[in-house]
Amino acid sequence: MEERVKFVLDEKEIPTHWYNILADLPEPMPPVLHPATKKPVGPADLAPLFPMELIKQEVSTERWIEIPEEVRDIYKMWRPTILYRAKRLEKALDTPAKVYFKYEGTSPPGSHKPNTAVAQAYYNKKEGIKRITTETGAGQWGSALSFAGACFGIEIKVYMVAVSYHQKPYRRVMMEVWGAKCIPSPSNETKSGRAMLKKDPDCPGSLGLAISEAVEEAVSRDDTHYSLGSVLNHVLLHQTIIGLESKKQMEMAGVYPDIIIGCIGGGSNFAGMYLPFVKDKIDGTKPDLRVINCEPASCPTLTKGPYAYDYGDEAGLTPLLKMYTLGHDFMPPPVHAGGLRYHGMAPIICHLYKLGLVEARAEHQLGTFKAGIDFARSEGIISAPETNHAIRVTIDEALKCKETGESKTILLAHSGHGHVDMAAYEAYLSGKLKDYEYPEAMVKKSLEKLPQV
Ligand SMILES: *Cc1c(COP(=O)(O)O)cnc(C)c1O
Repeated sequence: MEERVKFVLDEKEIPTHWYNILADLPEPMPPVLHPATKKPVGPADLAPLFPMELIKQEVSTERWIEIPEEVRDIYKMWRPTILYRAKRLEKALDTPAKVYFKYEGTSPPGSHKPNTAVAQAYYNKKEGIKRITTETGAGQWGSALSFAGACFGIEIKVYMVAVSYHQKPYRRVMMEVWGAKCIPSPSNETKSGRAMLKKDPDCPGSLGLAISEAVEEAVSRDDTHYSLGSVLNHVLLHQTIIGLESKKQMEMAGVYPDIIIGCIGGGSNFAGMYLPFVKDKIDGTKPDLRVINCEPASCPTLTKGPYAYDYGDEAGLTPLLKMYTLGHDFMPPPVHAGGLRYHGMAPIICHLYKLGLVEARAEHQLGTFKAGIDFARSEGIISAPETNHAIRVTIDEALKCKETGESKTILLAHSGHGHVDMAAYEAYLSGKLKDYEYPEAMVKKSLEKLPQV
């Protein structure tokens, strides 16, 4: 019998609930602290930024949280997404490994990000909010929130990391098509932005700094909230739709993964994939499951950073999160995987890493583009530079299987397409792309400024 390569769920099978890992953790998470008092934050501290429904989700320990019907209706535009068996890649690698990938690139903005953008816009709309500010790295999050703003009639203002704003102009145009306003960060519109421009007029920007600008504007206006596209518990919660669908699809395929692989910037797409599986590892049904978090060697948060309380943004306006961090004012080198250039990491992922439930690996960008090209030439899909980090590790694990003769089942979280990243591919193909060493001295300097808790 021919083996299937596509595992397709019906619209009716879109999950009705998100999965909340906080219900099943072997040890509770460290608390989130107020940046001034250093005491645990309460709902009132977060109310200027987020709708109450999201604040509740942030701390909820209920295992299943219902997905509102209005959100599910919009999900239907592209969900359930397809799970593929990468037969042609397996053949090209001549590996006995079975490689599956869940492809999130078919959403309107081309990545997993609208899974949470739509939910966040919905809860803001319900609370009567008219405007949302946010930051964006490569422009994926900004475009996803712009799309979600268009779905619900909410005005979106995006602070885009300057280096990406210039490297990736088409993402800005996408945001504008969906009706949003996008400006480069650092900008002259906020105190944090002006302070940075004074220090360094050519500052390439960072996600941390763009967050400072977006947060500063949101707290200064009553009609405006702020939205974060990764890192926070409620964002990871919304992304569990990826893992929940994948679990059903792997069942259709009659397999369970030995290894799950994905890329991590703030950690939302990959945690969204693996949290419903890690549940099986925590409860002892799948003790041998391996989960590999892939990050850039030039911004190696999990593999090189200390586990400490730090701010989520450059200027120190956000609450303190316990996470692996490279320091809140660390400016990562301008690799093309803009979505992975973040100094911190989702506290849930950090907690699981600390507990030894998940692993991490760091990859240089040249190797990741090589993998992305091998993937495109076998599976057809041209992947985002972020995703290429996960593809690199997937190929390496599949090649290990070739050496050992093991037929492992690998599940790759494929976070999005790279159609708006042709400049990066062009740089790679013409030999202009280079690797950046881990900027150890800069990280050391930045870590000296960790807040004392
Ligand atoms: C934003 C982005 C990422 C990184 O964000 P996470 O929150 O870590 O998932 C990865 N891949 C793509 C395609 C992205 O757009």
